[in-house]
Amino acid sequence: MNTTAISSEKKEVNNMESQLKLQPFTFENVPSTRPMIIAGPCSAESEQQMVETATQLAAQGIKIFRAGIWKPRTRPGSFEGYGSAALPWMKSVKQATGMLTATEVANVRHVYEALKAGIDILWIGARTSVNPFAVQEIADALRGVDIPVLIKNPVNPDLELWIGAIERFYHAGVTRLAAGHRGFSSHEKLVYRNDPNWQIPIELRRRIPNIPMFVDPSHICGNRQYLGEICQKSMDLNYDGIIIESHINPDVAMSDAKQQLTPADLSVLLSKLVLRKEYADNNSLVTLEELRAQIDKLDDQLVDLLEKRMKVAEQIGVCKKENNIAILQTSRWDKIITKRLEEGAKKGLSAQFIETIFRSIHEESIDHQTKVMNEPKNGNK
Ligand code: PEP
Ligand code: MN
Repeated sequence: MNTTAISSEKKEVNNMESQLKLQPFTFENVPSTRPMIIAGPCSAESEQQMVETATQLAAQGIKIFRAGIWKPRTRPGSFEGYGSAALPWMKSVKQATGMLTATEVANVRHVYEALKAGIDILWIGARTSVNPFAVQEIADALRGVDIPVLIKNPVNPDLELWIGAIERFYHAGVTRLAAGHRGFSSHEKLVYRNDPNWQIPIELRRRIPNIPMFVDPSHICGNRQYLGEICQKSMDLNYDGIIIESHINPDVAMSDAKQQLTPADLSVLLSKLVLRKEYADNNSLVTLEELRAQIDKLDDQLVDLLEKRMKVAEQIGVCKKENNIAILQTSRWDKIITKRLEEGAKKGLSAQFIETIFRSIHEESIDHQTKVMNEPKNGNK
């Protein structure tokens, strides 16, 4: 279960990262109202595609243009970006619209070329932030350069690796940093292209409270039909910005065609977002306080129940040990999960939730039983 990736490792890390003194991720002429939008095509395909897309985005008040110059692709042979040849097109976008430009850098050469071409914001892609050597080299190449960097989560759900990448830039003196949440690869078949695994960015924010958080709905969704719900959810989780793919003609895009949307459709999507504030401005929210008190009480009961359940599991462990029975009976586990999935469905609890909870409870139960099994009997081993 992914949540264990967050909590188990955390204990070994001191909480120094929360003290990072970040500079604001704000720009002249870019409104600091939430959400800050970075939009543009997955890939730079031609000067015309870039300038036309940017012109339509700028007309909606979007101030920051994104485009992939170097594209990391899973298999060779697919379009890997035009590389440096596309950098002058970014300049054309700036000249035509006054927008700031952002692109992905994955090695030191990309950094030098992007800086030389006057790119304003860099992002580190998910396939790069997964590799501390690559991240360190890029961070070192940026020593002494005052450029904002958005660091996307690594492809795998490893919070420490994400924080580590942020720290590598910070220690190299890059302090205008933001985090980009683009979801995590999964071997399971998902509705979305990448599992959002929301608890990981939520925990990142708890650990580094002042880091601006951007959602990348395009790479989470993989399909434009889900972009609205992911953007809304990110706003309800107090994200600061959205980095989203937009193309004048998405269906003929050379990469990520299904997840891109036209500037006009992006405008509709953004107009539908409901923005709520993180904290209430008055203290009279008695109802909220009362409901929270109820939640706290229920959580107390949940933890008590879990304790009781594990005590019973330990007795089962003793019984199995005395009768020389193995800890796991697959058919019993199958019955438990099937029954709870059925019950959960009746009670409006999603299958994914029930599975996650019960897998975790079962794992903990196995641990308790294993402990009992391996305990030496009083006095005789
Ligand atoms: C992208 O933004 O075009 C991209 C390749 O993103 P990611 O690193 O999230 O896959
Ligand atoms: Mn893309």
